[in-house]
Amino acid sequence: MKTKAKMTIDTEKCKGCGLCVSVCPLKIMEIDKSITNKKGYHAARNIDIEKCIACGNCAITCPDAVITLEKEEG
Ligand code: SF4
Ligand code: SF4
Repeated sequence: MKTKAKMTIDTEKCKGCGLCVSVCPLKIMEIDKSITNKKGYHAARNIDIEKCIACGNCAITCPDAVITLEKEEG
């Protein structure tokens, strides 16, 4: 059984602090320098959602509740 994750990142709310990057056990979060939001921050993104185990670390850690995580058992 594999846990599949669906992640939504509200890039306009992200301030690029990198906390979500530092708490991901699989190192699949990164700050994407190609994204600059209206506040002038580079936003976080998930680089490999297939590997995500939906542990929730990133979503819980984000101070601005930018990350929404849904998981599906499949
Ligand atoms: S839910 Fe866990 S594994 Fe998935 S991106 Fe967030 S911290 Fe990484
Ligand atoms: S913890 Fe939240 S605000 Fe900080 S980079 Fe990650 S998504 Fe953006």
